[in-house]
This record gives sequence, structure tokens and C-alpha cells, in this order.
Amino acid sequence: MTESRNVAIYSHDNATIIEAFLVHRKLVDGIRDITAEKSNRTAVKKLGESLNGRSLNEATDDDYLRYLSTRRSHPNSFNNQLTVLSKFRDFLGLPRLAVKRMKAPEHERIDIEKERALADAILDEAQGDSDRVVIILMSYGGLCIEDVCNVKRRNFTIHESWVQLDYTRLKTGVKASVTFIEKAGIITRYLCEHDFPQESHVFFSKTGKTAHHPLQASGVSNIVKRLSTRAGIRWHPHMFRHLAATELAVRGDNKFDLDNTFGWKHSTNTASIYVNLANSDTNNKHLERAGIKPKSKNGGLVKTCWKCHMPIGTGDRCENCNTLLNPRKAIIEEKRSKNDEIALLKAQMETMMKQMSDLLNGGLCHEPEDRKTARGDQDESNVPILDANLSITKKNLSTR
Ligand SMILES: [Zn+2]
Repeated sequence: MTESRNVAIYSHDNATIIEAFLVHRKLVDGIRDITAEKSNRTAVKKLGESLNGRSLNEATDDDYLRYLSTRRSHPNSFNNQLTVLSKFRDFLGLPRLAVKRMKAPEHERIDIEKERALADAILDEAQGDSDRVVIILMSYGGLCIEDVCNVKRRNFTIHESWVQLDYTRLKTGVKASVTFIEKAGIITRYLCEHDFPQESHVFFSKTGKTAHHPLQASGVSNIVKRLSTRAGIRWHPHMFRHLAATELAVRGDNKFDLDNTFGWKHSTNTASIYVNLANSDTNNKHLERAGIKPKSKNGGLVKTCWKCHMPIGTGDRCENCNTLLNPRKAIIEEKRSKNDEIALLKAQMETMMKQMSDLLNGGLCHEPEDRKTARGDQDESNVPILDANLSITKKNLSTR
């Protein structure tokens, strides 16, 4: 091996090798502590664990390939680990692996109209302004969950009809600046009602051991999980950022605009992906105008039902599952029909209770003697059982 190989590789202790690698990454490659600790340490540590007690220093190409093949379920995380492991092999003086990056979902076209309706349906489920603003920052401002919990009052500037949020992204240290126009009123109301000091966080956890502490990333995930479950929608927090970026690109923001809004370095091409997606829309518009391509609302994308994911036609409802194709309307409709059901049950119960009390009163007063004796002792014991059942049903209804 060459002399340039790092001293650390002569150790066979995985912990020592990992520490040396992380120091190298921070000092030589200049990565941030959070990146070293979160993604770099995790990837190399997991590779080490897959070696069943052997040293990272002895891992063969097959070991790398086998480990990576188990990581293919999440494209972003796969690509991230591939990058880290490539750096790790550089560090050990090993040649590059012949493994391609996976196509990330970011590179795929999304149905903006549908996704925006889903995102807004999730927002509708929020019960208080705190949850509401958390969702708005992600859904309209494209903030990552880590950045949502990190923002402080001083990051916001309230204007008459818009709110500006300037923050530094935790993950990259790049500055981002977002203007909220559509939902500015809710943000303003939340910030003014609480009157947070300038240096204060603005979101706090409400329950558990960490109650009243600044909200953590896991807390933000939980809010998204809770609200999307309540709305009956499959969702991942990162989809908000993806949606916000796609919307702005389609509306005409260029790469530099997107870099500024989402905190991407100008030297990276993440924003270009969105701009390219939007460009394919532009091209389709040109073709449509020339009559070369039939008019399609969404750049030739196959539209699917938000509930059952089957392709949809032109009507309001999915032909497969009959759900309203506008998720917000569908959720409202579902709630209304549930309320109708409850009202119906309540009415039925009231009738039943009235009949019963009539029966009991009438029975005790007017029932002929022979029928009364025929029913025997059961007569009295029936009453409390029915009562108990009714009160249970009543209780269930009131908690729904
Ligand atoms: Zn459907």
C-alpha cells in the first residue's frame, strides 16, 4: 500500500478507526459536527456491525456491496451512505466502488395540485396555532424538521401582510430566507399571542418528560404523523419541502431563488432538479400551444387517486373507490357523514329510551297479571342491564 495511507488504518479496533475517520472528515473535508455525528458515524458504524466482529480494516469489496444492498429501501439514505462509504474507502486508500446512486424521489415529478390538497388537508387537522404554524413552516416554507425546532423569535420579521423568516440551516450552515404570504396571518397571530422574547424558541413540547422544553425533531415528526393519520393520508415530513420547492419552481423561481429560499449552496444542483422539472412543464406548454401535444393539466403526468392510488378520470370522484378526488373535501365529507351517523344513533337511542320507559311504566302499571308472572324474576334484573348498556353507548358517543 502507498505511504499516503492514514495511520489509523493500522488499528483493527473499529471504534478507533471510526474516530480517526470522523476527525479526518472534519479537518480535511471540512464537514460540520452534526454531519459527522449523524450521517458519517452512523454509516460506517453500521457497516462495521455488518462484519460480525471483523475489523473495518479487513472489509472486502463484497462486504461493502452486501451491506449497501440491504440499504436500498430509502433512495436518499442509500445515496447518503454510499457517499460516506466512498469517502471512507478514500480514507483507507481503497479504490472506488462500482455502485450507482439510486434515483431519488426528488427527481420524480409530483402532482402538485394533489399534493398541495393533501398537505392542506393535514394542516386542516391541526387543532391549535402551534401545530398549525409548525406545518405551515414546512408546507409553505419548506423547512426541514430540524430547522423547524431550531427557529427563534428573532428569525421572524412581521410585516403588514407577510412574514419573513431568515434562518441558518442546521445541516449545511447555509442561510435561507422565506416569505410567507398566504398563511402570514396565522404565523403573526401565533407569534403575537405568545409574545416570545427575541432569543426564545417558538415551539415547545406539550406532554411527557420534555414538556415545556423546546420541541425536538422527533416531536415535529410526531405532529406530522398524528395529523396525517387523523386525515387518513400517508405522508412524510420531507414531502412538504419537496412540494414547496416544486411549487416555487413551477411558478417561475430560478435556481438562485430556490437556493435562497431553501438554503442550498449555489454550488449544489438540488435546486436545478426542481427547475428542470418545471422546465419540462414549460416545454409541454409550448407543444400544447402548437397543437403537437394534447392539453394536459400536469405535464403528461398520470394522475392517481390520493386514497387508492389508481389512475383517475375526469370526474370529481375516483372510479375505483368513489372517494372525492379533492382530499380536503373528501375528509370534510367523511366527517359530516360520521356526524350524521352519530346524530342518527342518538335519535334512535332516544326513541328506544322513550319506548323503554313507556314500557316500564306501562308494564308496571297496566300489564295484565298473567303476563307479568310468566316473565317471572327476569323482569327486574333486565332493567339495570339495559340501563348499563345505554349509559356505555352514550359515553362512547360523547367521546367521539
Ligand atoms: Zn380511489
